Amino acid sequence: MMLRMLSKPSSAMATLPCSRVRSGLCVWPDVRQLCFRKGILYGFMRLFSTPLKTLRGASRSLRVAQFCSVVNMSPTLQIELVPCLKDNYAYLLHDVDTGTVGVVDPSEAVPVIDALSRKNRNLTYILNTHHHTDHTGGNVELKARYGAKVIGSGTDKERIPGIDIHLNDGDKWMFAGHEVRIMDTPGHTRGHISFYFPGSGAIFTGDTLFSLSCGKLFEGSPQEMLSSLKKIMSLPDDTNIYCGHEYTLSNSKFALSIEPENVELQSYVSHVTYLRSKGLPTIPTTLKMEKACNPFLRTSSAAIRQSLNIAATANDSEALGVIRRAKDNF
Ligand SMILES: [Zn+2]
Repeated sequence: MMLRMLSKPSSAMATLPCSRVRSGLCVWPDVRQLCFRKGILYGFMRLFSTPLKTLRGASRSLRVAQFCSVVNMSPTLQIELVPCLKDNYAYLLHDVDTGTVGVVDPSEAVPVIDALSRKNRNLTYILNTHHHTDHTGGNVELKARYGAKVIGSGTDKERIPGIDIHLNDGDKWMFAGHEVRIMDTPGHTRGHISFYFPGSGAIFTGDTLFSLSCGKLFEGSPQEMLSSLKKIMSLPDDTNIYCGHEYTLSNSKFALSIEPENVELQSYVSHVTYLRSKGLPTIPTTLKMEKACNPFLRTSSAAIRQSLNIAATANDSEALGVIRRAKDNF
């Protein structure tokens, strides 16, 4: 795979191992530059991470998007995290060949405008996973400023501000030559969709699947959420998961409480704790990691069922309902 930089690397950068396979980040402080492959280069990070810039302002815990790009398998599609509000992520999609830019779930306009302005880029598309304000709050301002088209679920066309293009389960839509498959993933809301980019091995899951959790069941049943999660679980294990919030560290406390002996979970939590201590994002995660660690993808786990007194005879949706209620009250 190729890695394309959003900023020009210095000669010092060229000496660092900057390539990655699907999962990883490049983070570029002013002088020193640091690259790491999440998980694999954890030890490397410990050696070189001291000068990372992180916090700027009390309300935004992450400012890495100012000097960070996340690039996945496709050589021509760049994905950049844009921290918004307290713990939301919007994602800028940039097609290198055409210069086309989209944004996923802009909860507010200003951080997205800032990110676009830094690169002198326009905005063509706004993609919404669902109608909640912390995913659509920037729609109207961004649409007015750039003339961008708003894309969302046909099921929720009445609730998505400024919607232009309605998409439904199974639809294929093209983003500047990149195929996007629309997956209905209800449970959190009725009209929740996820955007899967098979050529990039990336899925934007909004508030359906988080790292180590799933969304609250505001408008759906455990059965619906289970069905949505199973759709996502059917994708390749190395799919990168870009979710709507930086909740991972918080979620890890509940996950560990009900499956304390899960060694992969323990290891992941150590990694997540380290990343957050440096103000770095835990996103993207991978489907493989979530299958190993996320209790909502592990409804058949004997250890989890024992922790929550879920009968061995209970089906997976009943188990998911119990796990969800336990987390709601955690
Ligand atoms: Zn939501």
